[in-house]
Amino acid sequence: MSDRPKELARFLRKEEGRRRLLLHSCCGPCSCYPFLVLGTHYDVTVSFSNSNIYPREEWERRLRALRRAIRGFSRHYGIKIRLLEPGYGHDSFMEELRPMADLPEGSARCLLCYRKRMEEARLIARQEGIPLWCTTLTSSRQKDSEAILRIARELDQEDPEGPAFLLSDWKRGGGLEEGERIASFLMLYRQHYCGCEYSLPKRK
Ligand code: SF4
Repeated sequence: MSDRPKELARFLRKEEGRRRLLLHSCCGPCSCYPFLVLGTHYDVTVSFSNSNIYPREEWERRLRALRRAIRGFSRHYGIKIRLLEPGYGHDSFMEELRPMADLPEGSARCLLCYRKRMEEARLIARQEGIPLWCTTLTSSRQKDSEAILRIARELDQEDPEGPAFLLSDWKRGGGLEEGERIASFLMLYRQHYCGCEYSLPKRK
């Protein structure tokens, strides 16, 4: 990471107008606080990169909630957000995770799941020529923000010429409560399990 922050600061100073940022979104409710903060400072593109979600109907339900959140932010806050929908590839996504099926939630399986989703979103940012990226995954009270931020740093280090992660822990500074308030106001669907088939039965 040595002089990466300095390079980024130089780049941002040179850029004119609103900066472009790619946000990996896991769902509508977790996106509310990031939308509010980022949408006032950046030109935000969202990628719904979440092939972990099972079954497909649930993936569609969460995508619909995200679309509703985007419409709500446009209507009520005047914040325009662009949505990219990379599609659903659950079987191939789960190939590497299946050997870890018996591990508990929060284990190495989940760290790999975070990494794969963030990696896909970061690659989309790279392809779109978007210089910054971050993820809504740190919004969730069930997820380990430190682990997510460590993975983001690793992805940046593996590809130093690519987009740079915008350091962001959305649970902090009242973000959790504010996000929940906005999600209720916009009447967004809230899921009751993390996403994959291994988390589904335990929460039923
Ligand atoms: S429990 Fe959640 S984070 Fe862990 S593997 Fe399943 S969907 Fe991914």
